[in-house]
Amino acid sequence: MYYGGIEAGGTKFVCAVSDEQFQIVERVSFPTTTPTETLEHVFAFFDQYKLKAIGIGSFGPIDVNKNSDTYGYVTSTPKKGWNNYDFLGAIKDRYHVPVAWTTDVNAAAYGETKKGNAKGSSSCIYLTVGTGIGGGAVVNGEVLEGFGHPEMGHILVKIHPEDDYAGTCPYHGNCLEGVAAGPAIEGRYHKKGHELADNAKVWEMEAYYLAQALMNYTLILRPDVIILGGGVMKQQQLFPLVREQFEKLLHHYVETPALEDYIVPPGLEDNAGITGSLLLAADKAE
Ligand code: ADP
Ligand code: ZN
Repeated sequence: MYYGGIEAGGTKFVCAVSDEQFQIVERVSFPTTTPTETLEHVFAFFDQYKLKAIGIGSFGPIDVNKNSDTYGYVTSTPKKGWNNYDFLGAIKDRYHVPVAWTTDVNAAAYGETKKGNAKGSSSCIYLTVGTGIGGGAVVNGEVLEGFGHPEMGHILVKIHPEDDYAGTCPYHGNCLEGVAAGPAIEGRYHKKGHELADNAKVWEMEAYYLAQALMNYTLILRPDVIILGGGVMKQQQLFPLVREQFEKLLHHYVETPALEDYIVPPGLEDNAGITGSLLLAADKAE
């Protein structure tokens, strides 16, 4: 018997099948297009295996409230065809096995606590800084969900004195995602993030925003580890800059682990989400 994992991103899907020791047997990836077309790829892949359970970590916003009529739906996404789409229902209709359902970043946080840079911890935050900013959390060993799932990217931040960029968020303008996700960097400097690698000012401002967010998350959740992933964090020079600003802001008000161990990249690199999905599948099977 196998476990199936789906990391459903807004740009691409990753599907994997693992054995019961979580060794990946096969992994495929394809672009996220319409739900019908994308799900055809998913089915073609999983139909080859006898699955015990499936775990889904999905881009959002999604409905994770078990009391809701639209539990399992992708909700208010601007992504064409996915708005109000019953993703979990489509998977359950095809495969009559237990299916775990959470956000991509919650799955990534879970993967990191079991097998990555938060291994041995019962709490961690996983923040992705990419096309958007999203955060997931594991608290007391379980992914954090309530009425809905966390939306850590849309918190308000103090604007840098030299930043006059209006921000990209259609809801809030200059919330964290609006000023610090990949498209904000691109909008402010008219160049792609990776083309700005040598521009120190860019990363100093980026760190200024991310450090504020991390301080707020720290004060609210006091996690053991904060993992920073996503395309923008490929700029490794950001890590020391974020730690430095974080220390200045927090001003030792509360204790944290040593910052080199506290604010870190994903130990599972680009496999945090898919690994978490497989682990959640196994939990659901029990
Ligand atoms: P997604 O969020 O769509 O899953 P990514 O995490 O790769 O995908 O995020 C894409 C964003 O990250 C884009 O805005 C892109 O410009 C930015 N990005 C990707 N790679 C880099 C890099 N090496 N340096 C800086 N920014 C990057
Ligand atoms: Zn916002």
